[in-house]
Amino acid sequence: ASASEEKDLVIIGGGVAGYVAAIKAGQEGLKVACIEKRGALGGTCLNVGCIPSKSLLNNSHLYHQILHDTKNRGIEVGDVKLNLQAMMKAKDTSVGGLTKGIEFLFKKNGVEYIKGTGSFVNEHEIKVALNDGGETSVTGKNILIATGSEATPFPGLEIDEKRVITSTGALSLEKVPEKMIVIGGGIIGLEMGSVWSRLGAKVTVVEFLDQIGGPGMDTEVSKSIQKLLKKQGMDFKLGTKVVSGDASGENVKLEVDAAKGGKAETLDADVVLVAIGRRPYTKGLGLENAGLEVDERGRVVIDSEYRTKASHIRCIGDVTFGPMLAHKAEEEAVAAVEYIKKGYGHVNYGVIPSVMYTHPEVAWVGPSEQDLKKANIPYKVGSFPFSANSRAKTNLDTDGMVKMLADPETDRLLGCHIVGPNAGEMIAEATLALEYGASTEDIARTCHAHPTLAEAFKEAAMATYSKAIHY
Ligand code: FAD
Ligand code: NAD
Repeated sequence: ASASEEKDLVIIGGGVAGYVAAIKAGQEGLKVACIEKRGALGGTCLNVGCIPSKSLLNNSHLYHQILHDTKNRGIEVGDVKLNLQAMMKAKDTSVGGLTKGIEFLFKKNGVEYIKGTGSFVNEHEIKVALNDGGETSVTGKNILIATGSEATPFPGLEIDEKRVITSTGALSLEKVPEKMIVIGGGIIGLEMGSVWSRLGAKVTVVEFLDQIGGPGMDTEVSKSIQKLLKKQGMDFKLGTKVVSGDASGENVKLEVDAAKGGKAETLDADVVLVAIGRRPYTKGLGLENAGLEVDERGRVVIDSEYRTKASHIRCIGDVTFGPMLAHKAEEEAVAAVEYIKKGYGHVNYGVIPSVMYTHPEVAWVGPSEQDLKKANIPYKVGSFPFSANSRAKTNLDTDGMVKMLADPETDRLLGCHIVGPNAGEMIAEATLALEYGASTEDIARTCHAHPTLAEAFKEAAMATYSKAIHY
């Protein structure tokens, strides 16, 4: 295929949203091209998001555990040293393998990969400034915008990715900072804060709200993980807003204000991580040339079938509505291509899990207790602590609990909130149960292997309508 012929589908952006749509379209027999400017496929998630952060989380956890949690397991270790460069190399190896893997999948599914920056000329034509120089243009019967998001900057603090960093800088610092301040106690702040705290930095998280974890985290779970992270050495200033910053001196200084009960003071650190959220990215896309709109937060406006104002131009992923999560983008990618090819598609937005990959992990699906209260939806709670779970005990990893929220009359599962080891894997079981409308009794009467952490899940379900056996 050459860039000059008209495609069935042209995709702008090769992140999770774009690359999954491209593969799916190829599988469906569509003539498809995907334009990506980064020089690598996989977008934020594979290059500077999900994947590199999990590599550092995994290996920094191992390092921290070897330092602090081996003697009582009967393992005596000698000199333990951090080789940050090698840890970063391990991360780069994982990232490189996965992004190259997508290039292979493009070839396998007949997707044309155009390396460059795309922008609308009009409703059907996209011009591409090629990474290697020069320009080409491509037209599509259908076009999919999947240009993703970028870190929201903090006004007055210029990001240099060395002393004032976003998550991208936090994934490749050259040395462990002495003092790190994290602005924003959402998922990025807590995951990246955990990494550097485990590697030896004194980390303080400043959060505007009176709870950590970002939107959607159940308050009881949030309090529980905060306590555990504090035990690991992280400090928290809640109800505190960073109002201004100054990076001109040797250290970066931040003025903080009492948002809700916090106190006004000046903080300083050698590195400041700005983690106050992400915003849709449409810079240079020329949306105006196709007559497309964004809302007040910069999100491309779409209908329930991902169509923009021009019905053959669709949009999915971080650049439009909904949670900024890779698996949400992936679901939308499949649904959008199905709309194009078959006229129907579906994503169940009520059943999208969230996972925070700290140790222990936090994972949830469905509404939190505070969400249900706010919506006046009756519920009952069943919970089970990992301290009463045999596998967690053998693993000497007993912090946390499973909490289930169920309909008081029908026992139908409403939501599940877990803080504990492997919570991110366990939440898949709750997600499946919710998708199929299972009751907590259905879950509790399903045989779970012994000894597994998943038995805590089963016993929490039991506790919603009867009593757990082991607690
Ligand atoms: P992106 O991944 O941002 O991809 C968009 C792509 O479009 C980019 O590669 C960009 O270069 C390209 N592009 C933009 N404009 C143009 C143009 N004009 N022409 C050509 N190309 C263009 N989510 C999870 O679910 N789990 C996690 O564990 C997780 N961890 C994260 C950790 C970090 C540190 C960060 C920052 C994010 C994390 N996320 C995680 C969120 C996840 O990365 C995003 O939700 C996901 O990447 C969104 O996919 P997307 O394809 O919509 O956008
Ligand atoms: P977030 O919205 O989750 O959290 C930002 C936090 O910053 C909020 O709690 C907010 O109250 C606080 N804040 C904002 N302004 C502040 C100020 N001036 N002073 C103090 N606190 C302030 O955003 P994030 O953590 O930057 O993450 C961005 C996106 O990336 C999210 O949508 C997240 O879901 C996604 N992500 C997901 C994962 C994962 O799934 N494991 C990991 C990383 C990122």
